[in-house]
Amino acid sequence: MTKPKMILMMGGQGVGKGTHARRLIARDGYGYVETGAILRALPPESHIAQIMARGELVPDSDLYDLIAGAINESGDIILDGFPRTLPQAKWLVKNYADKFDIRVIYMNVPEDVMLARIEKRIREGGGRADDADAAVVRRRLDSFWKITMPAIEWLRTAPGIKFADVDVSDENPDTNFARIYGALS
Ligand code: AMP
Repeated sequence: MTKPKMILMMGGQGVGKGTHARRLIARDGYGYVETGAILRALPPESHIAQIMARGELVPDSDLYDLIAGAINESGDIILDGFPRTLPQAKWLVKNYADKFDIRVIYMNVPEDVMLARIEKRIREGGGRADDADAAVVRRRLDSFWKITMPAIEWLRTAPGIKFADVDVSDENPDTNFARIYGALS
């Protein structure tokens, strides 16, 4: 029996993980685990909300139950914003590689493109509280390079994981989506 697909949308801030995840879902009907949205739904006084407001990563141990509870194992699924650390990547592979065919879409863009897209998100009114403060954005970008890139590099060569390095720096989102779609087929 073929295993359901688990697609990991990975990449830096503003690369379009959520936008392209939603397009894939509209087209092919995946289940969706949007980590940032799950965390933003927690009460503003919770310690997790305070960590997020500072632009820091939430501790791994606070996430595992939330993510496990959000993963429906009965069908194809997209994870957006998880994993973001090496321990998270290892936890996911250890617990889910036998249940899912895991595919990573690494949405690869240079940092100046990430910054331009965050600015665009703010200009167009879709910006979030943690986009508005330049120091917070800087901290999120730093943690992407320092903490998330090692997870991406580990997944690139992890046995049994299908890894696609997709250049999504084109100005036209349709072109970027076509590249992602192509990498999945
Ligand atoms: P996002 O909407 O994916 O940019 O996530 C917003 C914020 O939620 C991040 O800046 C982190 O504070 C937190 N967060 C989201 N996903 C994770 C994760 N996998 N590990 C730790 N913190 C996370």
